[in-house]
Amino acid sequence: MPNKVEDSFIEEAKKAAKQAGGYLTAELFDQFRDKKKTVAWDTYSRKNKITFRDFLKIAKIPSKDQHKLNKTKIQIIQNFKLLNITYGYIDKKNYEDQKYTPSWEYISDRFGIEKMACIAEVKLKNKYIDIDTMISDLKISIKELGYIPTRQQYDELKLKPSIKSLKSKNLSWRNAMIQAEYNSTRLGDKICQYDRCYVQFEASEKLFCDTCEKKVKSEINKLIDSISLKDAQSLLRELINEGNVDHKLLDETRKR
Ligand SMILES: [Zn+2]
Repeated sequence: MPNKVEDSFIEEAKKAAKQAGGYLTAELFDQFRDKKKTVAWDTYSRKNKITFRDFLKIAKIPSKDQHKLNKTKIQIIQNFKLLNITYGYIDKKNYEDQKYTPSWEYISDRFGIEKMACIAEVKLKNKYIDIDTMISDLKISIKELGYIPTRQQYDELKLKPSIKSLKSKNLSWRNAMIQAEYNSTRLGDKICQYDRCYVQFEASEKLFCDTCEKKVKSEINKLIDSISLKDAQSLLRELINEGNVDHKLLDETRKR
């Protein structure tokens, strides 16, 4: 590597780059430099034995090619984000329908679709960008289902992520379930239905894990303290007529 470059010279070059539109070539440097504060590039280069390319690297100023590449990337990210707002995901067909540039093929060859989707933080249609999203979706799918299914049941229910998606990330059913903090060997176990609780417990009529059931009861107790006589009477009637099947009344009451 060449000799040290003075900070003041870098500062001047950065100013010139800004004027030139965000990048520099030796010609642009000479065109936009402050002629009182700097010498021409040729003179500087000869004196300091440094190529323009190396200088840009040290000064952390984009070359013309890098600048173009950055602009292209920004354009791709913008396109992806726009498409994602409209459809909730991105895919080849919608992208091409919008006649965006650069083309889908170009992005795929040059940068990789998945990689750019990851940078743009958008979802690819039917395809998971990262394992974390996949696992958190699995966690939610199982909670919504309410119990631990067999691998086959899960597959037949066509829940997301699919077994195929898991496989594409080298995740077996068992491993994926472990990562989602479920025990897949305890088939039929229930999942607590309290908000944001994912505790698994032995199948019973209960809707909630022990901890959450305590919470629910205390919520209802508080409700009873402030409930009107009329509401208390109707709650009592419900309890007599329909009972607390599957603890549903508990759940409905707490949400009142
Ligand atoms: Zn719970």
